[in-house]
Amino acid sequence: MYTLNANDLHNSFSLKEAKMRWTNLRKQVYEMIKSNHKPMCANEISSNILNYDLSNIYRTIKVLGEEGLINSLTVSGSNFYFVGAGHFLCCKKCKVLFNFDKCVGHNIVDSLEKEFDFVINNHVLLFEGYCKNCR
Ligand SMILES: [Zn+2]
Ligand SMILES: [Zn+2]
Repeated sequence: MYTLNANDLHNSFSLKEAKMRWTNLRKQVYEMIKSNHKPMCANEISSNILNYDLSNIYRTIKVLGEEGLINSLTVSGSNFYFVGAGHFLCCKKCKVLFNFDKCVGHNIVDSLEKEFDFVINNHVLLFEGYCKNCR
C-alpha cells in the first residue's frame, strides 16, 4: 500500500478526506493533473505515464473524481480534468480554453449558501464566447 508522507500533502484537506488507497498510479495521475497549468484530457495524461494503458487511466480518473480530488469540465464532448476551483473561458469556435486565477465567484457563493442553506467548498466557472481570433 502506498502511503503519503507529510511533504506530499500540498492539498492536505482533500487528501485526508479521501478514503481510497493511494496506489502509485493514482498518485501519479493526481500530481500530474494538479501541477499542470491547464486542464488535461485522458489522452494527455496517458501519454505522460508509462506502463499503463488508457483504460487504467480512465479507471484512475474515475476513482479520483469519486473521491472529489479532481474536477472535470466537458468541452464539446471531451472531458478535461483539473484540481481545485476552476475558472475558464472557452471559445465556442476554436475551443481554446483559458484559465484565469481571478475568482469572480465569492459573491455568488455567499448568496447561494444563504439561499439554499448549503456549504460550498468548491466551484467551477465556465464562460463561453469567442476569442480574439474567432470574432
Ligand atoms: Zn477561438
Ligand atoms: Zn473562484
